[in-house]
Amino acid sequence: MTMTYVDVWAGCLQLIRDRIPPQSFDTWFRPIKPVRLDQHVLTIEVPSQFFYEWLEEHYVDLLKEAIHAMLGPSGSLEYAIVVDNHAPKGNGHSHPGSHPSGHLQMPSHSVKGDSSSKMGRDINPERAVPNPFVIPGIRKFEVESNLNAQYTFDSFIEGDCNRLARAAGFAVANKPGVTAYNPLFIYSGVGLGKTHLLQAIGNAIKENSPRRAVLYISSERFINQFVEAVRKGTVNDFMNFYQMIDVLLVDDIQFLAGKDKTQENFFHVFNHLRQSGKQIVLASDRSPNEMEGMEERLLSRFKWGLNAHMQTPSYETRKEILKSKMRQNGIEFSEDVVDFIAHNITTNVRELEGALIKLLAQSSLNRRDVDLQLARSMLQNFVDNVSREITVEAIQRIVGEHFAIDVSQLKAKTRKRQIVQARQIAMYFSKEMTRHSLKSIGLHFGGRDHSTVIHAITTVNDLMTTDKSFKQSVNEIRKRISMELG
Ligand code: ADP
Ligand code: MG
Repeated sequence: MTMTYVDVWAGCLQLIRDRIPPQSFDTWFRPIKPVRLDQHVLTIEVPSQFFYEWLEEHYVDLLKEAIHAMLGPSGSLEYAIVVDNHAPKGNGHSHPGSHPSGHLQMPSHSVKGDSSSKMGRDINPERAVPNPFVIPGIRKFEVESNLNAQYTFDSFIEGDCNRLARAAGFAVANKPGVTAYNPLFIYSGVGLGKTHLLQAIGNAIKENSPRRAVLYISSERFINQFVEAVRKGTVNDFMNFYQMIDVLLVDDIQFLAGKDKTQENFFHVFNHLRQSGKQIVLASDRSPNEMEGMEERLLSRFKWGLNAHMQTPSYETRKEILKSKMRQNGIEFSEDVVDFIAHNITTNVRELEGALIKLLAQSSLNRRDVDLQLARSMLQNFVDNVSREITVEAIQRIVGEHFAIDVSQLKAKTRKRQIVQARQIAMYFSKEMTRHSLKSIGLHFGGRDHSTVIHAITTVNDLMTTDKSFKQSVNEIRKRISMELG
């Protein structure tokens, strides 16, 4: 089978995508264009010198690994840098191929020999037993832990938003399997540090006791492995493998919802590990109480240890995080720029980081320093590009305003007809316009049952087909909510 340069690069991207945050992937890997494959040398085109340097500094090991995976151990990489005679102005987005005037500067930045030696650090695929199948009966075995060395406790900034989770994680990292936090169950919205914390725990344990079998895995990957094991008839090996793990870190456990067979096997793994004093840490986008499609016996076990919620960082913590990320990357922005970003990007840490990277890339592409003015114009683009999400609270507020009733009424026990109707409409939009589950929506409305929410949705749907003025009113509210989304 012969692979073209396009195939090889596509394969590399697939591997890289799984390893780094989507924001970084979009910024640093999407703009790259493969240009040729010569024996074992893949040439990729990057938009600028700065870009090339950044890749070499931050992603050299990852690139090396990807190239080796695709081309074997003799594979290597060459860069071609687009020299653009007309510096891009305005939004500064760097689409590959959008520089018709650029020509490839070669081979002065070819880093074949140079980068191979730099890249040659300690990648030995023989060392790790491929997941998840090992020969049963072998006690000492090495697991590829799937840990990213950047995610440590040192690089995890503490604030009120995450103090409990961090402290519990730290305790677990120092005494895995021994504390009362077993399992440690961490939950939060997106981009608030769950994966970072899970990885920090894994890294710390590996550092303290390198021989321990630590495994970080997303539940999606766990599911895929299980399905594959069923297909190949190797479920026993699968179970054996997981039962030999000392520290199991499962990310995004919510994806197990509805996967009954996988849940059953996870249940056995869980019990086995916990009974043998092994540590389990789980991360989820919601609390066990808000999970649907999950076996009761699993949910009750999730609550055995500690459930720690992480929240959005405060302004002060956001600034701390920005400063720490800048230190890590050797960047220095002035205080007013940092203030400005921390003040305007409030959603989560991933977007905070995204803003930093964008600002940096923009400054490199426009060849100008980062100042408040650039930050302002960048943020304009950034904020526009963020797909905003409506919250249940916003829906409640808008519906309340529409019917001139207080939001507290929507959550109260009142059975007054007008209030019941407003409540039903708010529930209806919560289902339609947010990603909350029925159960979670019920909780937002004074702890009502999910069947009440279903009833509300059916009622609203029915009324809309039979009652014209009702339908009009619902549509008006929809418009108001959409306006909120901008
Ligand atoms: P989640 O898994 O909750 O979606 P991640 O752990 O992937 O979030 O975090 C998103 C990004 O934000 C990562 O790059 C992570 O390093 C960073 N991050 C999150 N919380 C913190 C924190 N408290 N201190 C430093 N960086 C953080
Ligand atoms: Mg995550």
